[in-house]
Amino acid sequence: MSIETIFDTMEYGTAPEDRSVALQWIADRGGLLGPYVNGAFSPGRDDLAICNPATGEKLAGISLCTKDEVTEAVRSARAAQPGWQTAGGPARARVLYALARLMQKHARLLAVMESLDNGKPIRESRDIDIPLAIRHFYHHAGHAQLMPSALSDRVALGVCGQIIPWNFPLLMLAWKIAPALAMGNTVVLKPAEYTPMTAMIFADLCSQAGVPPGVVNIVTGDGSTGAALVDANVDKIAFTGSTSVGRQIQKATAGSGKSLTLELGGKSPYIVFDDADIDSAIEGLVDAIWFNQGQVCCAGSRLLVHEAIADDFHNRLKTRMDKLRIGDPLDKSIDVGAIVDPIQLRQIGKLVEGSTAGQTYHAQTPVPEGCFYPPTLITGLHPADRLMQEEIFGPVLVSTTFRTPAEAVEIANNTKYGLAATLWTENINLALEIAPKLVAGVVWVNATNLFDAAAGFGGTRESGFGREGGWEGLQAYSKPANPLAEPTHITAFTGQGAAAEDIDRTAKLFIGGKQARPDGGYSQAIFSPKGKLLGHAPIANRKDIRNAVQAQLACSWGKTTGHLRAQILYYIAENLAAQANRFAECLDAMTGLSAGAEEVQVAVDILFTYAAWADKFEGQAKSVPMRAVALAMREPVGAIAALCSDQNPLLGLVTPMAAALSTGNSITLCASAPFPLAATDFYHILEASDVPAGAVNILTGPQADLAPHLGAHMGLETVWCLSGAPRTEAVQVRASSNIKRVWQGAAQDDHASWLDAGTEIKTIWIPYGE
Ligand code: NDP
Repeated sequence: MSIETIFDTMEYGTAPEDRSVALQWIADRGGLLGPYVNGAFSPGRDDLAICNPATGEKLAGISLCTKDEVTEAVRSARAAQPGWQTAGGPARARVLYALARLMQKHARLLAVMESLDNGKPIRESRDIDIPLAIRHFYHHAGHAQLMPSALSDRVALGVCGQIIPWNFPLLMLAWKIAPALAMGNTVVLKPAEYTPMTAMIFADLCSQAGVPPGVVNIVTGDGSTGAALVDANVDKIAFTGSTSVGRQIQKATAGSGKSLTLELGGKSPYIVFDDADIDSAIEGLVDAIWFNQGQVCCAGSRLLVHEAIADDFHNRLKTRMDKLRIGDPLDKSIDVGAIVDPIQLRQIGKLVEGSTAGQTYHAQTPVPEGCFYPPTLITGLHPADRLMQEEIFGPVLVSTTFRTPAEAVEIANNTKYGLAATLWTENINLALEIAPKLVAGVVWVNATNLFDAAAGFGGTRESGFGREGGWEGLQAYSKPANPLAEPTHITAFTGQGAAAEDIDRTAKLFIGGKQARPDGGYSQAIFSPKGKLLGHAPIANRKDIRNAVQAQLACSWGKTTGHLRAQILYYIAENLAAQANRFAECLDAMTGLSAGAEEVQVAVDILFTYAAWADKFEGQAKSVPMRAVALAMREPVGAIAALCSDQNPLLGLVTPMAAALSTGNSITLCASAPFPLAATDFYHILEASDVPAGAVNILTGPQADLAPHLGAHMGLETVWCLSGAPRTEAVQVRASSNIKRVWQGAAQDDHASWLDAGTEIKTIWIPYGE
């Protein structure tokens, strides 16, 4: 063959990676692996066969850990935790650093094992997964070092249960273990049933790196092992996996007091505008959907291409698809490797073949026998088609077209997910206008699948909550050093129902900027401690909640500037200060105390504080090791409802309201149940302060009746449960309906925690350079 012919055909040969070191590592352990608990491996059992998906050959047998084994692992983590925490940040930093060094030293072994176990191309495990995992340990060694100075007001959560999927086995382990250890937690991690091998090597490295026994524990097994870990005596569950299992876990942890972060599925849009550099956009798309055979939670699996260029784009894409090489994952010349398991392969086939909509194109490239699926493009789909909405989790791209930027945003956001989004345009103004409008935790501009330990990653809507990476990721593994006391439940005072001396005072609800009679038409008499009738407060029901949330969703408070939000909060403060005496009297009459005047003063001060923060709670530009700006934008979490605390009737109302408004959220406040009259007086202040309709709604009535409806409401993104455990549980058991964030509040003067609870980080990646 002449050189000229080679230039013409671009033929190239195979370049297989040596697998012997990885196979020897397994053989040295007798082909059987067991859990790693208290710094040592337990003898392995041949319960589950771990296979190479590319060939079907068995690599090892592994234990299916029982509930007792999980309990034992948690016990070991519990025993080790105080010592690990008190060792201090710098001591933990040394250990994390040693782990990073050892991973680097054994990078080739880890990469080969990952490809053998998962089926991903060695180019990806060698050049992306393993280096990124190592980077996470280096980066978090730094966070451990800095914790005493930079996070001196935070402490570890305790023992963290961590459950990870099979698509990025070592990388997901690193994303979970590195921040947890840095903050002084100990961990029990369960790798996926299909892919535990690199976690086993990691356990070995923990022993070599001097990780104290019990600090890292790894239990192998399947979903039953994961469920046992969720039930175990842990302080937190960090889960990455499917939305359906995430939902189960949210239900299972309801009322347990366990912290929870969920990194779930996605159906991420990949938007190509008509001015995009088409060849680059196609190369990016190859990475977006065929990286790791499309088994990527944030895969750009939904192509939205401008109508004017769609035909050309699809044709060029098909040409590129035909050149992709599918085959042995250990061959360095391979683009697309094996699907993780025959079960997953069947699932992909079922979804694609079960769809009659659109035109399906399979890449015209040889596909080996076995667990392989050709790169596939399905064009001509309607945005509502099943394949446009459901996660396929395979190398299948679905496509539709749009005409205007507004339509692109509408189609992009037309999904229950909100994990990632990619957009391609040469017009930076357009890109920066569209990126904030996309409902996604991560947005890539003219690039895709950029990740770094310094930049947060995570979703919104049914893609979950919590961030991994960066300063924001540390929030999920630490808590304020001064714990919040459990709010006490106060029983309302009773009386004889005697008519008040002056005119009957029956308050209303406040919904959509107007006073509204309760849907049920009922109200409740409110008495002073001495049994004097003070007035009547309306009893809200499910329909009142529905109306309030509708008003929230119609309100554009989130789009206002920080400056305007500050102005309105100052205005509320001013109007409250002008009515201080009236509120103080109302508070004293309801509580029988004489602290009303002081409470009003503190409420005014809180309003001033959150007004001050409104244009100062800023994002960051992350220091990522590449030619890119990664902007960490703080976005409002969306429609919030709050169950206000029983005590401090005014402060308990004003604090969540001010924090929510300051961060750009609308809020429905369910007022203090025993002392609701300060809240019903407060809507006069709102009416006089130019608060836009729907930004604040006030409901009264028994919170025990309202809590379940708040938990189940699909329009609410977040519920702040500030009135104690029983109502929190009632919300949490239903919160999985739309994977709601549930937060239990912070000390009144812990402004940072309140502001954090009102925001979520969106990372916008913008590469630069020619
Ligand atoms: P699953 O949700 O099935 O499994 C994830 C993990 O949870 C596995 O370790 C699994 O064990 C375990 N598990 C299964 N059932 C339970 C249970 N009832 N209680 C506790 N743990 C349980 O997801 P997959 O492994 O199939 O991974 C693919 C999914 O993960 C995709 O939907 C993808 O989008 C999502 N994902 C999300 C990411 C993100 O960052 N948002 C990243 C990667 C994947 P076992 O494997 O043994 O069954």
